[in-house]
Amino acid sequence: MPNKLEQFKVPLLQKNNIPEVIEKLLGKKIFNVQIERLALDCRRKGNPHFVCNATFNTEIAPIATSEILLKKYKKNNEMPNDVSIVGAGPAGLWAAYGLLLKGHKVNLYEQGKPIEERFRDIRRFLKGGIFLEHSNIFFGEGGAGAFSDGKLNTRNRTEFSQAVLGDLIKLGAPEEIAYLAKPHIGTDRLQFLIKNMRKQILELGGKIHFESCLQDISVTENRLNSICINKKWQPCEVLVLASGHSARNIYAMLSAHGAQLEGKSFAIGARIEHPQSFINESRFGKGVDYKLTGAADYTLTGKTAYSFCMCPGGIVVPCASEPNGVVTNGMSYSRRNSPFANSALIVPCHIEKDDIKSGIALQRQLENAAFEMAGKNFSVPKQSAESFLSKKSCLWDLMPKHISHALEAALYEFEKKMPGFIKNGTLIAPETRTSSPIRIVRKENGESVSISGIYPVGEGAGYAGGILTSAADGVRLAYVI
Ligand SMILES: Cc1cc2nc3c(=O)[nH]c(=O)nc-3n(C[C@H](O)[C@H](O)[C@H](O)COP(=O)(O)OP(=O)(O)OC[C@H]3O[C@@H](n4cnc5c(N)ncnc54)[C@H](O)[C@@H]3O)c2cc1C
Repeated sequence: MPNKLEQFKVPLLQKNNIPEVIEKLLGKKIFNVQIERLALDCRRKGNPHFVCNATFNTEIAPIATSEILLKKYKKNNEMPNDVSIVGAGPAGLWAAYGLLLKGHKVNLYEQGKPIEERFRDIRRFLKGGIFLEHSNIFFGEGGAGAFSDGKLNTRNRTEFSQAVLGDLIKLGAPEEIAYLAKPHIGTDRLQFLIKNMRKQILELGGKIHFESCLQDISVTENRLNSICINKKWQPCEVLVLASGHSARNIYAMLSAHGAQLEGKSFAIGARIEHPQSFINESRFGKGVDYKLTGAADYTLTGKTAYSFCMCPGGIVVPCASEPNGVVTNGMSYSRRNSPFANSALIVPCHIEKDDIKSGIALQRQLENAAFEMAGKNFSVPKQSAESFLSKKSCLWDLMPKHISHALEAALYEFEKKMPGFIKNGTLIAPETRTSSPIRIVRKENGESVSISGIYPVGEGAGYAGGILTSAADGVRLAYVI
């Protein structure tokens, strides 16, 4: 049994020498330190430090990976051997990897391009507004998470998410992601990890087909029998659907074939950008060496809205997956060294289960209106928070009134918590792709309740949100299938 030490203080300068800190505290040599949690404590201004939980012993314990997790489980021989997967985002990549580890033959279809080509397309889009329907910030190898902040947050760490972290370390991510309370990778590192994941899938015998779009399925007596990829039909008994929540045509296609879908509450709003120096000072106080703390983040929850997907030292990016719509999101590089911080401020939108139309309709309406308002060139409407609060037009014209009022109330509330939040803030809108407004209802074994042979997974299925949980959902599927 490993020993455990909880809630001990780690000076900022010692962040990378935690075993030494423990040895000093205990006065003896230790081995195999597993840092379970490392969180920045900045409750006392001017004296930020880390608080740590760690286990240690005298033997080398392996870090959990999907390989270790799945080796314990035998392949279900009643399942067909051949599996098709649609979508090479975190869920599809990890489902492919897990199923290959279990001995299945995997064909992975991705409508977008390999990450190297995709990033070139994205750079062209960000420079000049050249939009490509299947190669953009949402679509392509690595999925929506590839051109992102690369935060690896999850509310609950499970054996599956732990295994994904282990895999990422094996693929080249820094070891600290296994223990940091808020692990972060950054888009620059993510692209290398995704390339390494591709290599691993190919080495295990998986086949990856880029620029290959699932257009239709054929279902007989509630059972899948074939799929249509790039206008060509092919037999398919098992389809893992990891298409993400921006693939709106997939929902329409499934609905037309009688798949059970449900409306799901989600949230919309705007992104707010501040100088990072303001956030650092509000959170840590003056006179702190911010190079040691890293760029400060925040989490704010108000009565009407809350912060979401906060990107310290990040960049607000305009994103599009449809030719007449634009939406904001945030990304960052591993060093989080941009002089700005941004975060979504979002308002919950209740959607009834039997309503599978309103969520996407609202997203689309806002995205189309923003596209028109900003000059149809894929830039996004923005306005200072002060001007928004003085009710000057722009975002008030863009968003439904109840959303604007909810943001207005939240800004005043957050100003009390972080004085200067309004004066220093710029609002950029709309933030609409926070999570899926639809769920593809599935059974405990991961299969669609209404069409046998289809296994919805990841964020688009409505059971996961974020990079880590979507990838973990992929591993979970490989485990239960
Ligand atoms: C700019 C940005 C920043 C983000 N930052 C973070 C962050 O820091 N941390 C975090 O946890 N989450 C972040 N997210 C959210 C995160 O990216 C998603 O939660 C995650 O990628 C969902 O994974 P997924 O595999 O379920 O779906 P996706 O990543 O959406 O992948 C789905 C894939 O399926 C493909 N596809 C769709 N339809 C078809 C079809 N018909 N045929 C073939 N292929 C198809 C798509 O091209 C896409 O590549 C961010 C998202 C964006 C857009």
